[in-house]
Amino acid sequence: MIVLSGGTGTPKLLQGLRKLLPDEEITVIVNTAEDIVVSGSFVSPDVDTVLYLFSGSLDVQKWWGIRNDTFHTNYALRELGFSEKLMLGDADRATCIFRSELMREGKSLTEATLQLCKSLRIKARILPMCDEKVDTMISTLEGVMHFQDFWVGKKGMPDVTDVKIEGVKNVKPTKEVLEALDSEENVIIGPSNPITSIGPILALKGMREILASKKVIAVSPVIGDSPVSGPAGKLMAACGFEVSSLGVARCYGDILDIMVIDERDTADEANFDMKTERFDTMMTSVGKSEALAKRIITLLEL
Ligand code: GDP
Repeated sequence: MIVLSGGTGTPKLLQGLRKLLPDEEITVIVNTAEDIVVSGSFVSPDVDTVLYLFSGSLDVQKWWGIRNDTFHTNYALRELGFSEKLMLGDADRATCIFRSELMREGKSLTEATLQLCKSLRIKARILPMCDEKVDTMISTLEGVMHFQDFWVGKKGMPDVTDVKIEGVKNVKPTKEVLEALDSEENVIIGPSNPITSIGPILALKGMREILASKKVIAVSPVIGDSPVSGPAGKLMAACGFEVSSLGVARCYGDILDIMVIDERDTADEANFDMKTERFDTMMTSVGKSEALAKRIITLLEL
């Protein structure tokens, strides 16, 4: 099973999927357009969340970082008068240092990630969407800024006028991503931010064409007129999409075969260009994630 993922909504779904399929049968293609260098270490926030989910160490209260991690280095840097762009825990930082060292030796982000999977005894295949540097840039009334400066630095407050995935234009998915897609018929787009998490993956050269030939099911991260969490609403509106499950379906367009919308959503199914399915998509427990994952697998097998 192939799953396209960001760093919060889809990992919740993966938690349930893991109860139904062995990790060896799960491939996750992960957004890298929010990657950033923090104090000399290459941080790949969405990749790391997925890594920690599969290694069993993810802090599932925050959906980032390692459970019970300490922050001694971050605090010590602050005492020195240096403020980090992202709060990195000490063990989390070790992952990023290891990755950075591998990349300094000439390894690609994919190779470094596969090495991390091996070190962490992860059986799932976790694949960064690409090895090239791609950046989500947010145009705001306060100027253009990197996604992390907007979301973490400015707490998502500035008014947004546009979102661009810088550097993605001629970038293809990696060989590993292409091979994985070649051997699978079904793809799940989890309930991730359609603009900043799934958008960059779909913007890779040739990706939409490949997905158009697959059976693709997506779960809406928007219920009614607002996302369950995060800045998806503001960013969708800035990109000209209605903030609704229908707006999410329109972001994905004709690559979608099935759109799963929440049972509480008031969207009119007649407006969708693809099959729709209603289900409880609020993954407030592992049991609920598992039930949603089970429904998705059934729909893909129909
Ligand atoms: P990011 O990388 O941290 O932005 O994480 P993602 O893009 O993977 O996930 C963020 C999206 O997940 C937000 O748009 C939320 O609305 C959505 N989300 C989070 N939890 C849930 C949930 O339980 N159900 C649904 N349907 N969406 C969720």
